[in-house]
Amino acid sequence: MSQTRKSIILATAIVVCFGLTIYLLATRPFDAGGSEFREVVEKGPRVPVVCINPECKHTGKMRAKVADDDWPKPCPVCRMATLYRSCRCPNCRQPTAMKHDAKGTVVCSNCGKSFQLLLQGKESGEGLEMSGP
Ligand SMILES: [Zn+2]
Ligand SMILES: [Zn+2]
Repeated sequence: MSQTRKSIILATAIVVCFGLTIYLLATRPFDAGGSEFREVVEKGPRVPVVCINPECKHTGKMRAKVADDDWPKPCPVCRMATLYRSCRCPNCRQPTAMKHDAKGTVVCSNCGKSFQLLLQGKESGEGLEMSGP
């Protein structure tokens, strides 16, 4: 029986060593400067955002998934739920909040003109893109 037990212990040791090697190999890319890649996978890329609170008007960047359509989000400055993804208006070329209706129409907060966003299916992993030039 002791021979069998020895074999089991040896087998277990091999499996543990093998598993540890795989684990180290698998996690190494993340440790070697892969934290940015992991952040993008987990939280999405950094996107430009703008707060439409007239007393705040904060602009900056935050991580958001492309398919994330849960806007507005709480503004990190004024704490109001007035933070939208921003995009460049095709009319006046100024950044404006991507605050769109169900059809994807955005009214620019700078020039007041409206333009259309292409609303794509979430299944494709694509988000919102401007139809303008
Ligand atoms: Zn704000
Ligand atoms: Zn505009």
